[in-house]
Amino acid sequence: LLQNWRKELHRVLFVLAAAIVLGLVFDQLLLFLLVTLTAYFANAIYQVRRLYLWLSHLAEESNTPPPESKGFWGDIFDGIYRLQQRERRASEYLQSILDKAQESSAALEMAVILIDKQGNLDWWNKAGGDLLGLRYPQDKHQPATNLIRDPRFSDYFYKEKFSEPLTINSPRDNNIVLEFQITLFGEREKLIVVRDITQIHRLELMRKDFVANVSHELRTPITVISGYLETLLENIDSIEPRWRKPLQQMQQQSRRMENIVRDLLMLSRLETKAITRQQTAIDVRQLLLEVRSDSLQLFADKGHDISVACEQGMLLRADRSELYSAVSNLVFNAAKYTPAGGRIVIEVAVDSNALRISVSDNGIGIEEHHIPRLTERFYRVDVSRASSTGGTGLGLAIVKHVLVRHGATLDIASQPGKGSCFTCIFPINRVTWAKDLQQVAGGG
Ligand code: ADP
Repeated sequence: LLQNWRKELHRVLFVLAAAIVLGLVFDQLLLFLLVTLTAYFANAIYQVRRLYLWLSHLAEESNTPPPESKGFWGDIFDGIYRLQQRERRASEYLQSILDKAQESSAALEMAVILIDKQGNLDWWNKAGGDLLGLRYPQDKHQPATNLIRDPRFSDYFYKEKFSEPLTINSPRDNNIVLEFQITLFGEREKLIVVRDITQIHRLELMRKDFVANVSHELRTPITVISGYLETLLENIDSIEPRWRKPLQQMQQQSRRMENIVRDLLMLSRLETKAITRQQTAIDVRQLLLEVRSDSLQLFADKGHDISVACEQGMLLRADRSELYSAVSNLVFNAAKYTPAGGRIVIEVAVDSNALRISVSDNGIGIEEHHIPRLTERFYRVDVSRASSTGGTGLGLAIVKHVLVRHGATLDIASQPGKGSCFTCIFPINRVTWAKDLQQVAGGG
């Protein structure tokens, strides 16, 4: 480019010099200069006009080639043309990405909905229309909570805590189950992803029903078998000696089966029962003392020292039998997995956020890598030991379920050989104090 620019400069200088020389020769310097400059100027105007015409063509037809021109002006035209082509390719590329994004989001089975920071619908894909009945353009810029009217959705939408998805029935068809997951992005804008989980939901229901039915059906036969075994073993002296050991083992295993069935039934009740009856305020200390005395009785042969440290008059809003089952599972575990003569401490602490019920023991402890999996059903650290302790592998799964139903969490800390500490953390809004209640009653 610069080369042609220099050439142009040389040409101008040459023509000017020639004009000056000729002007001097003919003694018409001014005239020659004027004619030369006018000619040059006219050419420049002509080229600018061509450029102008071409540019106005380009606006309509982006592929129009530039006007033919040599030298300096040719370079300018080509330069502009190259820039314009580059621009065109970039925008075609962007358009193709945009088209792909549009096409792929339209092909998605999930509904994807963008919500602006005012909480109004901004954009959605095709599935958004199919699953939720959103209509374009009527529903654009409408508040999301106007279009999905389920109160659980608006609770979820405004809660701004989206770690868990929300499952509700479709506003269009009650038989369809939808799962909503909201992600925040940008400046408080929301991305809602909605999946049709009807099938998964149905399978899940079938699984729950199946477990509940199987456990229920097994209960009677196992009870009958254990009953007969017990009667037989009551008269152990009349039994032929070589049958004694097998019968005792049969009794032990049938007890285990009874325990498994009992725990499975408990779990399936926890899974299916609606969360009600949690409005009773339970005296925490009293419940813990009860668990303590039951454990002392059940594990009398181990001679553990079990202590309860809890302030009086502390009330926790919960389902009593569920809470009992959670805490007793923890304490029974502590008793089971602690060698005889151990120390088990049941302790309650309250701060401004939470109530913590912790059960700690100085037993065998648990290795770090087992801890995240302990609450899985049938997960056992040591399978051989589990059968000798009569464990079902369901205890901690029950604890976890109960806690989830109470908005609580389980924290597990343990060191092999030193002991374990299981802590149930309840939100403080479930706690009241008996003295406050009395005051309210007295004041009212
Ligand atoms: P189980 O019926 O086998 O006790 P759980 O679900 O109650 O089943 O517990 C799962 C596993 O966690 C147990 O098999 C045991 O290995 C381990 N565990 C639970 N509590 C304790 C504890 N206090 N000390 C050591 N190990 C424990």
